[in-house]
Amino acid sequence: MCGIVGYIGNREAYPIIIKGLQRLEYRGYDSAGVALLNGEMNVYKKQGKVADLHNFAKNENLKAHVGIGHTRWATHGAPSDENAHPHMSNNGRLVMIHNGIIENYAALKTDLKKKGYTFQSETDTEVFINFIEDIYQNTKVDLPEAVRLALTKVVGAYAIAIIDVNQPGQLIAARKGSPLVIGIGKGEYFLASDATPIVEYTSEVVYLDDEEIAVMGKDGLSIKNLEEVTTKPYIQTLDMELEAIEKGGYDHFMLKEIFEQPKSIGDCLRGRLNAAEGRLHLGGISDYVNKVMHADRILIIACGTSWHAGLVAEYIFEDFCRIPVEVEYASEFRYRNPIVGEKDVVIAISQSGETADTLAAIELAKSKGATILGVCNVVGSSIPRTTHAGSYTHAGPEIGVASTKAFTAQISVLTMMALMIAQKKGTMAESAFRKILFELEAVPDKVAKCLDLNAQIEIIAEQFKDATNFLYLGRGFNFPVALEGALKLKEISYIHAEGYPAAEMKHGPIALIDENMPVVFIATRDSSYEKIVSNIQEVKARKGKVIAIVTEGDKHIVEMADHIIEVPHASEAIMPLISVVPLQLLSYHIAVMRDCNVDQPRNLAKSVTVE
Ligand code: GLU
Repeated sequence: MCGIVGYIGNREAYPIIIKGLQRLEYRGYDSAGVALLNGEMNVYKKQGKVADLHNFAKNENLKAHVGIGHTRWATHGAPSDENAHPHMSNNGRLVMIHNGIIENYAALKTDLKKKGYTFQSETDTEVFINFIEDIYQNTKVDLPEAVRLALTKVVGAYAIAIIDVNQPGQLIAARKGSPLVIGIGKGEYFLASDATPIVEYTSEVVYLDDEEIAVMGKDGLSIKNLEEVTTKPYIQTLDMELEAIEKGGYDHFMLKEIFEQPKSIGDCLRGRLNAAEGRLHLGGISDYVNKVMHADRILIIACGTSWHAGLVAEYIFEDFCRIPVEVEYASEFRYRNPIVGEKDVVIAISQSGETADTLAAIELAKSKGATILGVCNVVGSSIPRTTHAGSYTHAGPEIGVASTKAFTAQISVLTMMALMIAQKKGTMAESAFRKILFELEAVPDKVAKCLDLNAQIEIIAEQFKDATNFLYLGRGFNFPVALEGALKLKEISYIHAEGYPAAEMKHGPIALIDENMPVVFIATRDSSYEKIVSNIQEVKARKGKVIAIVTEGDKHIVEMADHIIEVPHASEAIMPLISVVPLQLLSYHIAVMRDCNVDQPRNLAKSVTVE
């Protein structure tokens, strides 16, 4: 959370920073600010969106060749002009932007106050920069060393950028737990929380590692870690196209990303799967197939939508591979005393690859000897660099805060992983294996068919846009889809929604059902079809309004449901990839009709880099 942008070089810094902040706005949008250094330090900051900042600053003299910018997701102190970053140190020399949380900020603040420091904001960040100033003033070291000394004493997570009014040729950055990428141009450097602000200027990037401090500027780029060891920057080439991070004619990124799914799933499968030849290969995990095959247990660790993808994978792995699977919320896993051993395989799922709780859970499982595989979307992010092995989802940048194409790509990768293990382990008949390969290959076309239902779903959305509650019910492989449908609706439309296994309804939620309660059933043809039909009857008997996702040609549910949405046929293990699509569209349309900010829902941010 929080987006960071920095620039040092010969170009005008402001346009690069403001455009970069717009790209990173998905990471937080409580306030935004810039600091520009041109002889003097000018700081402009404003509560609200990046556009509000630009309106506020645009008539000022914005000329500068070095600057930093920030878009905030508040953790310490309400969204306000005062709490917006950048924050300046007491002597007015140092300016900092920060993504993360300094956990010992209260103790540091008390000490600094005793020394006479004063604070304009409630943030931990302002404490952090004054702590650095204090060290800088009281030791004879240079600024990078003062930053290093400070970093050895702070507890928590950070990605920071600092400029010093007296040293215009130098931009300092450091990270621990929050991401930072450095773009290398000709005599210029770009800094950002992810590569999207950088991609149009250079494709040469360095991903900073935890506990590294980078100094960029007229003397080039140098990187040191907290132990003072100099590391040679490892330059990578960006594989990202500009059009992938723009809206491309759609009203919202979310809609664009929903519609991209035939392609994103296709990209995920490409080169890994060939059904006609019966071939399946996930290069990233090939060295670990034996390990997984003989695992006592697979532990899937994730948060939010990724956790739902993990639940789908639980059904798939247990069915295909006959290995026990447990799916854990990363935040809970890390704070109990979990039993994990060397024969456990952990699969960590995260779109951004930066989710703080998932990263911490990985470290814990690793320390207990488990093998860790990652399933992430953002190439070069922290989780893929921490895990033993893993597979990227290749869904392309996902900018809408509510995850859509990342979810289907995660399930695609996890299905391929399970198939690879099952084949090697011999737990799946060759004919069943081949059949699923063909089905996976057909998913992009089937998703495209679901997208053709967009207009019909919009009409249904119109009828339910004023509902105050929704229930989503599914069974088996479609149960996690019910959870995901409910989550999509609540996060972008702010309608209270709950997902349940359909049979659990009678143990509680059935009490909620009356003529005002819309109930979405994911009731495609599978092994529990007859059972879910009974559950629909139970809801209808209590006058609930039923919206049913059914398999094309369904004759039975049509008779009972108020609305049906027909999706193409698929076997039950593959169905979540298809049945979730109408639910994404339903949430999207309801949210748009309620005038909600679909791409940047309130209180949320995409990359959850704080606990
Ligand atoms: N802790 C800082 C603040 O509240 C940064 C927050 C973040 O990175 O999300 O301003």
